[in-house]
Amino acid sequence: MTQTPVQPGIMDIALYVSGESTLAGRADVLKLSSNENPLGPSPAAQEAFRRAAGDLHRYPATDHAGLRAAIGQVHGLDPDRIICGVGSDEVLQFVVQAFAGPGDEVITTQHGFSMYPILARMVGATPVTVPEDTRRVDVDAILAAVTVRTRVVFIANPANPTGTMLGADELQRLIDGLPPQVLFVHDGAYTEFAEGFDGGASLVDRHPNVIMTRTFSKAYGLGGLRVGWGYAAREVIDVLNRIRQPFNLSDAQMDAARAAVLDRDFTTRCIALNARMRDRMRQSLIQMGIGCDESHANFVLARFDGPDTAAAADAALRADGILVRRVGGYGLPDALRITVGDEDAVTRVLDCLGRFMQGRGQ
Ligand SMILES: *Cc1c(COP(=O)(O)O)cnc(C)c1O
Repeated sequence: MTQTPVQPGIMDIALYVSGESTLAGRADVLKLSSNENPLGPSPAAQEAFRRAAGDLHRYPATDHAGLRAAIGQVHGLDPDRIICGVGSDEVLQFVVQAFAGPGDEVITTQHGFSMYPILARMVGATPVTVPEDTRRVDVDAILAAVTVRTRVVFIANPANPTGTMLGADELQRLIDGLPPQVLFVHDGAYTEFAEGFDGGASLVDRHPNVIMTRTFSKAYGLGGLRVGWGYAAREVIDVLNRIRQPFNLSDAQMDAARAAVLDRDFTTRCIALNARMRDRMRQSLIQMGIGCDESHANFVLARFDGPDTAAAADAALRADGILVRRVGGYGLPDALRITVGDEDAVTRVLDCLGRFMQGRGQ
């Protein structure tokens, strides 16, 4: 055992648990545990990735200029205020590294994304978890928890794993209520699935203490590629760039992400399929007597009448080769988070849950 002391906070980190991907003895596993795109990555992204193979001896561009320009063009944003990372998780890590440390507090919410407390502890800061209001982020609870030590507030909007969302008025009220030394991180991993939402870009444009993060892992079907980005005031991006490793993204990653963001037809198709299937899932679950809030993401949260029922439903799904996400660790032991799949996947899930609920006499 090494005698070198470990930095404060690190040994308090409970390792992140990712969605399962295999079931022993089954070849036909349907993975609906990690909010992946049922249509996979855009063919244009795949082609760009293959093309990059011949240049793997070259170091990549350090300024990410090509990718930032494409993101800026598609989303109508200033490329100089964009930073790219190894998934949006890396951008979130830059934020805590740059703006929080021992003695500082980082606010997250009751059912918030499990990476937030991990990131806070990584830099020795103290995660402070505030209650939600029936599975929705509670602006008043966040504002009540702010102290002079608060440095960062993290929310995902739409949220994971609840799928619920705060509207523009509530976001504005939250930002207006935060003291200027608090950085508000608006994690927009599921922005594309929320109709008519800019992901918080206009909030960033109006407020120097707001950062928006986005990802290629969900709507773009590139979770395995590991590319995300953030958008904030120039001064904030300048700080984050100082702790970013110069070669954090390979050219293969950047080329594929660039092709993906420019392939707008494919993205539109993915979003339309998700909206249709999400609606079908929610209506059917409710008809079966399973609780389901309106989701603004690419998953639904199915709520059963207790933790035992949720566990039994999970077992029934697994027996049919379907992997979904248990969310007891998110304070939701009665629920299962189910990624919205394609037509066949949704049919398989609904058939299984229909039989399960019938077997219980519902
Ligand atoms: C999936 C997800 C992310 C994205 O992580 P990447 O590192 O970009 O793959 C970020 N935030 C939330 C809430 C998510 O669910």
